[in-house]
Amino acid sequence: MAEWLEVGANNYVLTTEASLLNTGLIVGADRAMVVDTGCGPRQGREILDEVREKTALPLVVVNTHAHFDHFFGNAVFAEAGVTEFWAHENCANPIGQRGDLQRRHVRVLEPQMSAGIGENVELVVPNAIVRDQPVLVDLGGTIATLFYLGRGHTDGDLLVGTPTTLYVGDLVEQGAHPSFENSYPEEWADVLRHISALRHRYEFLIPGHGKPCSDQFVKTMADTMTTALRQARQSIRDTPNDATKAIPVLPYGPEQSRWFIKRLQETGRNPQEIR
Ligand SMILES: [Zn+2]
Repeated sequence: MAEWLEVGANNYVLTTEASLLNTGLIVGADRAMVVDTGCGPRQGREILDEVREKTALPLVVVNTHAHFDHFFGNAVFAEAGVTEFWAHENCANPIGQRGDLQRRHVRVLEPQMSAGIGENVELVVPNAIVRDQPVLVDLGGTIATLFYLGRGHTDGDLLVGTPTTLYVGDLVEQGAHPSFENSYPEEWADVLRHISALRHRYEFLIPGHGKPCSDQFVKTMADTMTTALRQARQSIRDTPNDATKAIPVLPYGPEQSRWFIKRLQETGRNPQEIR
């Protein structure tokens, strides 16, 4: 069952069932903005139908990052007349170049999307690009600010801020361990501290998955990641030939701890120190 929550005037979050994805909706006087579109035409249609219960205005779409559950629903919105798809350049480029490789992740949830057969299964690559400078999108009386705080969950995580609410995509996840597969662990901890420092500007903080988050939640997530970085570096120094020894020590599940170490080794600022 899809579930709406109002988070500030004209700001909403819709949670749809598959992996409890949060979709943002910001309604202006002239247009409305949809933040993240689901993992294929089935979920995309569910999101669009729910959005149409709230507003009949023309829509613009934002994809917070290049993971399938956040952009595979784009084609449903394109078919409904949306022409403006916003993303960071490091989100749009991988969708265009390697987006098809993610179809294998939705075999169960979205078999048509997985097979690339059926309606609205094509990839719609974002065409309105954000780089390092913030972009203000005027929805009519309401401005949504699209901005980038550096690499974290991926190298192209876009945040969406309104006068009341900050939508942060998978930079913050509630109810699950963070996902490190495409992450930059050292930089991610810094981005979380940056989000925490901005937090007084917003009444609500909406993660990519799970419930709205308090400032303390973000601080704790940052502190946990900093602790994990220290523990992983120590383990890698102690047993340089088998970094997996660190897995039981880390404050995440085994699968995510494995990714954490792998990505730290691949992306760490001091590679000589952690080899
Ligand atoms: Zn993600």
